[in-house]
Amino acid sequence: MDKNVEVFMNYIIERNPGEKEFHQAVLEVAESIMPFIQKNPKYKKAKILERISEPERVVMFRVPWMDDSGEIQINRGYRIQMNSAIGPYKGGLRLHPSVNLSILKFLAFEQVFKNSLTTLPIGGGKGGSNFDPKGKSDAEVMRFCQSFMTELYRHIGPNTDVPAGDIGVGGREIGYLFGQYRRLRNEFSGILTGKALNWGGSLIRPEATGYGCVYFAEEMMKTKKETLKGKICTVSGSGNVAQYTVEKLLQLGAKPVTLSDSSGMIYDPDGIDDEKLAWIMDLKNIRRGRIKEYADEFNVNYEAGKRPWEIKCDMAFPSATQNEINQNEAKTLVDNGCISVAEGANMPTEPEGIEIFQEAKILYGPGKAANAGGVATSALEMSQNSLRMSWCREEVDEKLHWIMQNIHENCVKYGKENKYVNYVNGANIAGFVKVADSMLDQGLV
Ligand code: NDP
Repeated sequence: MDKNVEVFMNYIIERNPGEKEFHQAVLEVAESIMPFIQKNPKYKKAKILERISEPERVVMFRVPWMDDSGEIQINRGYRIQMNSAIGPYKGGLRLHPSVNLSILKFLAFEQVFKNSLTTLPIGGGKGGSNFDPKGKSDAEVMRFCQSFMTELYRHIGPNTDVPAGDIGVGGREIGYLFGQYRRLRNEFSGILTGKALNWGGSLIRPEATGYGCVYFAEEMMKTKKETLKGKICTVSGSGNVAQYTVEKLLQLGAKPVTLSDSSGMIYDPDGIDDEKLAWIMDLKNIRRGRIKEYADEFNVNYEAGKRPWEIKCDMAFPSATQNEINQNEAKTLVDNGCISVAEGANMPTEPEGIEIFQEAKILYGPGKAANAGGVATSALEMSQNSLRMSWCREEVDEKLHWIMQNIHENCVKYGKENKYVNYVNGANIAGFVKVADSMLDQGLV
């Protein structure tokens, strides 16, 4: 490890003990940025890297609620307001039992660079709770969301902080959260994105992360004069990002063959077509069932406890969660001929896995760049809310497509190394420069 990176990481680890996901995310950025900072001493003198790694504010709070049997439950809520140098804090809320301070700080940190990359005026934040929506009734989810917002409402606002969805937070949860905010403030304003169309939502927002990730993969493939047509694709997860990744892959002529959830994976060698995808959307978004049911319905293979990376593919789209591709799985993907990995999820590949992809010189689009379409379209939702207007589907999709092409171009600009594009360096440096310069402009903030 570079000496400067080592010194910096010792400082981070000492200040943030035990936060391993946060250390992982900061290390990845530090490795990209350090050579750039050495060449541009103004950032070093102003200690921008140290400042950018310290949240502007962290809010942690009690979330008490009552379950259907009348028992009191207590969860912990969080909002990490990481950086607002270029706009209001923006980033999702995650509801999952694994949620802790380290995971939310890693996500908020990544969000700062990602949001900057979109070219839109949004700062970075992230929040959530260790509440598990799985197996809860709608009434329980509503009571939890109301209690969560009863504290969160003090810390957010259309010009301060605008959360969105993430794992475990979809249209239902955004609805309950928005309703409670409106009641508490007596105010109808765009304080959340991912809203339903009837009350301030944007067309294409639900689709945006998955569609954007496929648009990004398409741009990467163009650099090799390749298209997605006929490509066998493995996709993990079966939530929002995975579903719309599959939809866009189908539209572009590719063949998605896997999906998963935290219990296991399905492999459908004939391909998941439009009809099967509609069935999955009903299963996951309405009936809230498990992916295993797909195997029973369509008579394909289900493997409990497995992830899809052993299946031979041309392109991979990890779209479930962090650290879902380890070193061995990365090696298997490369050995099986995979030429592109575009991350729909945040930090799904472990550092040793990233090394394998980069050594093999395959196309590797990190989440910060490849999944930025979600937050970009959230920013488009904010613009529509401010204008009190809504744009048509084609207009939003066209803007999303343009933004993803632009992000790709910026990654190439800052990440080109001889004939290879290091998208990790490209995304980190391009995202960093705009935020760092804004912090310099604004004095010691
Ligand atoms: P959803 O809750 O809609 O879906 C998450 C999917 O991943 C589910 O299939 C879930 O399975 C699976 N999953 C979650 N945790 C684990 C785990 N620990 N191990 C294995 N599988 C798991 O979330 P999204 O689709 O919104 O988010 C997926 C990823 O994309 C996350 O990393 C998120 O941060 C990222 N992302 C999302 C954006 C968005 O707009 N929604 C924007 C940018 C990034 P199960 O149901 O069994 O838990």
